[in-house]
Amino acid sequence: MPTTVAAYAATSATAPLALTTIERRDVGPHDVRIAIRYAGVCHSDIHTMRGDWGAITYPQVVGHEIAGEVVEIGSEVTRHAVGDRVGVGCMVNSCRKCENCLAGFQQYCLEGNIQTYNGIDVDGSHTQGGYSTEIVVVEDFVLKLPEAIPYHAVAPLLCAGITTYSPLAHWKAGPGKRVAVVGLGGLGHMAVKFAHAMGAEVTVLSQSLAKKDDALTMGADHVFATADRATFKALANHFDLIINTVSAELDINAYLKLLRLDGTLVNVGAPPEKLGVRVFTLFDNRRSFAGSSIGGIDETQAMLDFCAEHGIACDVEVIPIDTINEAWERVLASDVRYRFVIDIDTLKAEAPAA
Ligand code: NAP
Ligand code: ZN
Ligand code: ZN
Repeated sequence: MPTTVAAYAATSATAPLALTTIERRDVGPHDVRIAIRYAGVCHSDIHTMRGDWGAITYPQVVGHEIAGEVVEIGSEVTRHAVGDRVGVGCMVNSCRKCENCLAGFQQYCLEGNIQTYNGIDVDGSHTQGGYSTEIVVVEDFVLKLPEAIPYHAVAPLLCAGITTYSPLAHWKAGPGKRVAVVGLGGLGHMAVKFAHAMGAEVTVLSQSLAKKDDALTMGADHVFATADRATFKALANHFDLIINTVSAELDINAYLKLLRLDGTLVNVGAPPEKLGVRVFTLFDNRRSFAGSSIGGIDETQAMLDFCAEHGIACDVEVIPIDTINEAWERVLASDVRYRFVIDIDTLKAEAPAA
């Protein structure tokens, strides 16, 4: 018998999120049931729900930065035990057979990984995310959370953390490298912390200087305002690596021109609009324009362990679930310092007794 659990869902692209119930499947032999404690609020939740990336099926529950405790395991489960602190990120399964999956890049599964929400699970059901009290996930896609980081500060690592760690590691941010982070929101603030910990010289490019002191505390060496056109002159041909986390359309060529010889701009921000790259901007300095999507399961575990080792966690504002609609508006207004995280106990308290 499936279990009925409390959740916050929207019924259309324009409807606010509201209390509802959803079904979670029975725990199969390889599944674990997780009592969710905290769920991070990613800008992708908003893009998805509002139909920015295309029409979706409603009612939909979003949330793919899930931290909680194992409360039940299937008969064949070996990786997790009841009582373990665990997390779930953006994927809950993949084909496991394609060359990318076999190489540990489940996020690039050639059949498409199964997204934590708004996906089609192996049993054909529509996946529903972490703004809920429980989730059932196959054990291989469940991460072990470091003891050293509290639940609320670890949850956003499952998306914001891995999405920035992966390109910084792949493009070798480190000593002697000049790294710029565009946009100081959920992803951006994690990119700053990682790039600093990896030993790079870190510059934040934010719309204004309003977040400057915070950026310096996070480990940035320099902060510039992109509203000031002089920034683009001062930093021309300067960076080895730029991580663009901006959720909206940008004049991408203006940012590409900040790359020095052989520099790469990696877009992790996912605006619905096309970004119009001029090839001549790439010809100069032999520049590269790249994209990157979350990270593989082993890499996500490595990122969590890196955070524990380097004392890195997310800067969060914990919110009760009944303020989620206002929180989304603040995310859209670039007014998040630096990740909203829902205290799921407040959802349990709101839910009618089963
Ligand atoms: P967020 O917290 O809202 O941060 C985005 C930041 O971008 C804002 O804080 C703001 O920083 C800047 N910004 C927003 N609108 C802007 C505009 N019109 N012009 C210039 N800068 C603007 O969002 P997030 O959760 O970090 O997500 C960022 C993007 O990454 C979203 O599009 C999300 O869907 C995408 N994403 C991609 C992946 C992936 O795998 N590639 C994974 C997760 C999320 P300042 O105030 O500092 O300017
Ligand atoms: Zn996300
Ligand atoms: Zn695959």
